[in-house]
Amino acid sequence: MELSKIVDEIVKKKLNNQPVSWVDYGEKYNIHPERLRAKVRRKLKKHNKFVSTDAKILVFDIETAPLITYIWNRWQKFIPDTQLIEDWFVISWAAKWLFEDEILSKIVTPEEAQERDDREVVQALWKLLDEADIVIAHNGIKFDVKHMNGRFLKYGMDLPSPYQVIDTFRHSVKNMKLPSHGLDYIAKYLGLEAKKSTNFQLWVDCMKGDSTALHKMDDYCRNDVKVLEDVYLKMRSMIQPHPNLGVYIESDTKVCPSCGCADLKQQGTYATTVNLYDTYRCKNCGSLTRSRRSKLHKREHVTSSVPR
Ligand SMILES: [Zn+2]
Repeated sequence: MELSKIVDEIVKKKLNNQPVSWVDYGEKYNIHPERLRAKVRRKLKKHNKFVSTDAKILVFDIETAPLITYIWNRWQKFIPDTQLIEDWFVISWAAKWLFEDEILSKIVTPEEAQERDDREVVQALWKLLDEADIVIAHNGIKFDVKHMNGRFLKYGMDLPSPYQVIDTFRHSVKNMKLPSHGLDYIAKYLGLEAKKSTNFQLWVDCMKGDSTALHKMDDYCRNDVKVLEDVYLKMRSMIQPHPNLGVYIESDTKVCPSCGCADLKQQGTYATTVNLYDTYRCKNCGSLTRSRRSKLHKREHVTSSVPR
């Protein structure tokens, strides 16, 4: 069945308040259930149907131009600030709302590139970050978010409204032994479409304001965001703790903190030093979660060991 017809069928059910299992629909038509859910929600909003406010999750990536410095030899490790010629600047960014089709991006103009002026590019990304509840970026905590914050301050802008960061690089390093934790390597490792190939000359040409190079950089960055979305979705059950999507959703039943799906299967228990909780496996994303209420709340026999 065509995707639009599937969406219409679900919308009809939703408008008649009939229950819908996203997992079952996803399996039946071989579509990612959350992608389907996003499409249905967009359509429901057009019908003015109230849709509970989900977290706004932004996948993004920035490309920066390098510092230009004087150095005395190729092995020099520390470069005093008196030897800095030019600061770095943001050449471009690309972003997409999770599960939405549209990719947004902005790149400096040839004139801005030559003047190393990224004010407009930075201001445009601020608006998206300000809207986001959660952002996903590869090495985002150390790189993208900090770079952007530095630029916001430079241009006299306040910090965007608070958002949580999912850093796929950090979760990869924490959980997996891989020869490389680069986005490209992880994508190939997981059998996904890899990043577009490029080399340093592209950055040199962008700094010169070469419009073909700038266009290529935009393509490269936009592709990176798609790769990052795929890597995130594949890694998602490993991202623990995941920002809790449950707090953004209105629901009468338990939902998965990682994807917001209500198809949870109770299996096993999770023990802390003095408590025991039921655990659940999400049928949609495979993440494990635990109940917030202890199974032992009335059992006085449990004591706690002395820590020292
Ligand atoms: Zn889930």
